[in-house]
Amino acid sequence: DEADFEEAEAAEGDIEEVDEGPVPVVAVVGRPNVGKSTLVNRIIGRRQAVVEDVPGVTRDRVAYDALWSGRKFTIVDTGGWERDARDRAKAIAAQAEAAVLTADVVLFVVDARVGATDDDEAAVRMLRRGGKPVVLVANKVDNARQEAESAHLWSLGLGEPHPVSALHGRGSGDLLDAVLAAIPEEPTGVARPRGPHRVALVGRPNVGKSSLLNRLAKEERAVVDAIAGTTVDPVDSLVSVGGEVWNFVDTAGLRKRVGFASGTEYYASLRTAAAIEAAEVAIVLLDAHEPISEQDQRIITMVAEAGRALIIAFNKWDLVDEDRRHQLSREIERDLRRVPWALRLNVSAMTGRAVDKLAPALRTALENWSRRVPTGRLNQFLTALVQATPHPVRGGRAPRILFATQAGTCPPRFVLFTTGPLDPGYVRFVERKLREEFDFAGSPIHVSVRPRK
Ligand code: GDP
Ligand code: GDP
Repeated sequence: DEADFEEAEAAEGDIEEVDEGPVPVVAVVGRPNVGKSTLVNRIIGRRQAVVEDVPGVTRDRVAYDALWSGRKFTIVDTGGWERDARDRAKAIAAQAEAAVLTADVVLFVVDARVGATDDDEAAVRMLRRGGKPVVLVANKVDNARQEAESAHLWSLGLGEPHPVSALHGRGSGDLLDAVLAAIPEEPTGVARPRGPHRVALVGRPNVGKSSLLNRLAKEERAVVDAIAGTTVDPVDSLVSVGGEVWNFVDTAGLRKRVGFASGTEYYASLRTAAAIEAAEVAIVLLDAHEPISEQDQRIITMVAEAGRALIIAFNKWDLVDEDRRHQLSREIERDLRRVPWALRLNVSAMTGRAVDKLAPALRTALENWSRRVPTGRLNQFLTALVQATPHPVRGGRAPRILFATQAGTCPPRFVLFTTGPLDPGYVRFVERKLREEFDFAGSPIHVSVRPRK
């Protein structure tokens, strides 16, 4: 009735605006045991520290949301190089490289009680080369008396050491002020608001990523090196596909095949995560003539959880025979059932099959990813839907949807204002119907519920 409607409308005012543009990324780097995890927990208030223990949540996820002085940022715990890494120099280089690629600011953590070690100095040399701002943390300064020890760390040449006790919280406010001050005006790690659309071309080793990129570059006879008015990271490739220039993020290594610290699987997945974060749309490449693997599924999940548009391209289609085709459709039903909305393409980087379908698929996915449904249309549709299929009665009552609004795009997010909590099954039903009505193919969407208090 009228009163409900007014209340819902009033509540609309306190929806957080989710379309805020890029959120800066802060990476935490340092030797094992210097207190990185403790510091990350301190900064995020321990709220999300258990993310990794939730079943079904990918263990590659090392990024957390943080807030300080009203400013949002993402904090990435890059772990530490393995304690007994056989080639320590390489491990240090890989960690620093991953951090620099992901981050707008690097938090370099040193144990002030131990002082700067050779490994610390090696890491500093790598970080300097990366060119990102570095904030030096002198950790384990638990009281004023120990503060003097942190002064020795000026010798690292990273400027002022910030004495902190991650364990007790001492100095962490000042540190976060320094971090915010070091964030560049326009974050570079996550999203560039203007310029060509950003594409992550990802997949496990040997699925044909570099072959596909080379094929695309060759077909169009143009790898663009610079476009007036846009800055492009040296790790990205601008490639013209389907008459449009696209920014394939973090792919320079694919084309050149040199100059990269190969690193462990862990760093490979960190790079994949970084590329996905930096992109608007991801092409996840699979090897169609091999079974869909857990690693394939993990990468697909990363894209969906990061809220990016998704195209799954089955490569090496030239090797797929009748038998394999049947097998594959069973695997798709079983292994990709969580992403039925993903756009799918069967391609061959070798023969060029269907490679011309990539650009139209990218455009479709991006269009649906940024779709905004007018509030009037959304509510007309929901009213009809709820009339035809009301929420099931629970304990003699059925919660009602009062009003809905699209709170954001990229990906589309919807908020339902209701008289009480909805069954998860009913929310999924609404989501499915929203997809049928408004076409979000290639894009994840979020539907959340706000019961009236
Ligand atoms: P990481 O390997 O760098 O992630 O280090 P951890 O966060 O796991 O910390 C290693 C050890 O140092 C743990 O036993 C922590 O409790 C301890 N530690 C971390 N920060 C502090 C601190 O500020 N003061 C003291 N005294 N101990 C700390
Ligand atoms: P990346 O590790 O994902 O970059 O994979 P590569 O591009 O290096 O390809 C791995 C191997 O698969 C190479 O031997 C390629 O020649 C081969 N390959 C890539 N695409 C195709 C394809 O479409 N068909 C066939 N038959 N082989 C392919």
